[in-house]
Amino acid sequence: MANPNNYRNHAESLRIMVQKAERIVVFTGAGISTESGIPDFRGPQGVWKKKPPINFHDFVASEEVRRKSWEQRFTDVYKLTGAEPNVGHDAITKLVNEGKVTHVITQNVDGLHQASGTPDDLVIELHGNANYSKCLDCEKRFENENIKKKFLEDGTIPYCDSCGGIVKTATISFGQPMPFKEMRQAEQATLTCDLFIAIGSSLVVYPAAGFPQLAKQNGARLIVINNEPTDLDILCDLVLHEQIGPTLSTAVNL
Ligand SMILES: [Zn+2]
Repeated sequence: MANPNNYRNHAESLRIMVQKAERIVVFTGAGISTESGIPDFRGPQGVWKKKPPINFHDFVASEEVRRKSWEQRFTDVYKLTGAEPNVGHDAITKLVNEGKVTHVITQNVDGLHQASGTPDDLVIELHGNANYSKCLDCEKRFENENIKKKFLEDGTIPYCDSCGGIVKTATISFGQPMPFKEMRQAEQATLTCDLFIAIGSSLVVYPAAGFPQLAKQNGARLIVINNEPTDLDILCDLVLHEQIGPTLSTAVNL
């Protein structure tokens, strides 16, 4: 069992570094959302270890694969609906509202930063968002609820009603290129911060894991908060192997 006093000691170091910083970038991975009950798809016990994710090229090439993909999304573990932001998300939102945090870069597709009140335009989603869908050709947005209703009614899979293109959840799948705009925004945010806090990410997935290193090389201080060691711990000014929600909420007096 973790000693609750540890949270206070570590939270104090975190609090001091946050107070001194003027432009903070927060980077989040699955760990912050597992405390909201969302499974870590990539982790050692992750869903993808048991059921590999569908590759983007297969999705585009085959209607059968698309059908299987929608079926998974609407009927089993892939569904993300119903999760609420936790105190970790709320602590970050508090720092955003105080003007300390300029951007939240996230590997998560659950939209929980926005749900906790961080404005949409300050959240940079490197892997997209699973809460809605988009036409792959014209980028028109479609709501998952409508797609789900039709799919469960008679197995209809969605095509764009404007251009006829293939509709897919607005996530970045395996085999799909990283989103250019978001990668640029994340890089720019990273290069202007004086403190970079990486939270709940094992920091092994590139290119996302390059951002903490970029921040450090550019002179920012670096903090990692994760429940287990990461490859970048050695670069850090502060490392906290703690539960995220309690640590963050104590540090920001939530
Ligand atoms: Zn379209």
